Amino acid sequence: MDIQATDNPAGGEDAVDPGLLSDDGTKHCLQVLSDAGLRPTRQRLALGKLLFLRGHRHVTAESLHDEAVAANAYLSLAKVYNTLNQFTEAGLLRRIAADGIKSFFDTDTSVHPHFYLEGEDVLVDVAGGLAFSKVPDALPGHEIARLDVIIHLRRKRM
Ligand SMILES: [Zn+2]
Repeated sequence: MDIQATDNPAGGEDAVDPGLLSDDGTKHCLQVLSDAGLRPTRQRLALGKLLFLRGHRHVTAESLHDEAVAANAYLSLAKVYNTLNQFTEAGLLRRIAADGIKSFFDTDTSVHPHFYLEGEDVLVDVAGGLAFSKVPDALPGHEIARLDVIIHLRRKRM
């Protein structure tokens, strides 16, 4: 179940502080947003810097919200959800539903298999890839669009 966030009723997302433009990370983020056709609002930039400057990442709205608070970017959880959804729609992120309740957002938008660590809320890539000996034919009139694999792990009992 996703939390449906509503847009700012005033319709006015904050303008970007021109002072931020001197920072290299900001410039990179502005380019990422611009290439994706997204207007660089304050919250998109703040979250984009957390997401797109640190290599390949898997985040949840909650974990990203915690990071934003730690970075003194005061955004509500609803705004974080909103922005993650906008980034996903713009093709910057891929949403991965690991356990039916919680969605992860992957900055690597290619199709690749994951381990999900149950009880720890962690999603990591499967190193070395994965091979299938038998993939079923698609139904008539259809083709396989992608094959998502999430291998659920739990701690062994000692
Ligand atoms: Zn991944």
